[in-house]
Amino acid sequence: MNYYEVLGVQPGASAAEIKKRYYHLAKQYHPDKANGDEAKAKHFLKIQEAYSFLMNKDSPTEKYYSYSEEELFDQFYEMFGFEFSGFGLNNFENSAYENEEQEVQISIKEYLNGTCKPIEVSTTSDCIICSGTGIHDHHVNTRVCAACKGTGFDSAMPIFTCNSCRGKGYNVINNVPCNCCEGKGMITSKKSISIKVSKLAQHGDVFVEDGIKFIINHTFSNKISNGRLIVSHDIGIVKWLCGGIMMITVYDGEAICFKSSGAFDLNRRYAISDDVLVEFKLSINSRHIDILKKLNPVFRKIFKLTA
Ligand SMILES: [Zn+2]
Ligand SMILES: [Zn+2]
Repeated sequence: MNYYEVLGVQPGASAAEIKKRYYHLAKQYHPDKANGDEAKAKHFLKIQEAYSFLMNKDSPTEKYYSYSEEELFDQFYEMFGFEFSGFGLNNFENSAYENEEQEVQISIKEYLNGTCKPIEVSTTSDCIICSGTGIHDHHVNTRVCAACKGTGFDSAMPIFTCNSCRGKGYNVINNVPCNCCEGKGMITSKKSISIKVSKLAQHGDVFVEDGIKFIINHTFSNKISNGRLIVSHDIGIVKWLCGGIMMITVYDGEAICFKSSGAFDLNRRYAISDDVLVEFKLSINSRHIDILKKLNPVFRKIFKLTA
């Protein structure tokens, strides 16, 4: 493995450059960000190994850790499993809306016409007052970790978090909770944002607005075919045989007029507007069937049908 290539630095790069590049890459590939992506996690190990090698190559007193990728991965897996949790590197910036997914409820009308609606979202971010430490006056009550010099990584083997500070990069001297966030280190706030939903947005569609992930949730259960809404309408046998005008309920309290000729084809769908199709279900009961059976010989006689 070419360690310089892995880190993307020129051969002969200074320790400061290597370090800067390493932290940049570690942020991108850190298991906390990998979401169980094995390829990303493996690459993170390569980055760690390259960094470890390049930082220690000129120092004969420092132990050079040479592990194969598989060995490193096995170690990694043994310690943390595939969940990749437990790193908790607070000195990596947190996205304010990470893991947030807000539902956008869409009615039939909104589905067919599109909509613009306000959605209240809650956001969490690091408390500014205590810089996310949860400690009151953290300049006074915390100290930069001497073991890792604030990096949060084990200085000899930067694949692991610093034992002394558990990856935080500082140690708490006096545990006085921050007044602003009550010691949580995070602030949750609510805000309303205006969401534009285009017409015919599908159930489960995901989009990002203002850094927040939204998911479309249809509040109706109608079938949809090629972007057209399918409405089911029960029709009585007399109405079907004779035809006429009927009102088809489409939205809550809203109906569209449908004019039919008698005995129309019940196996097809009928367009009642640009985006609504109606399928008819014949309401027929045993009494109707008995009548039809009785009528059968009469029809045969009228239309001179042979048996
Ligand atoms: Zn430390
Ligand atoms: Zn705070």
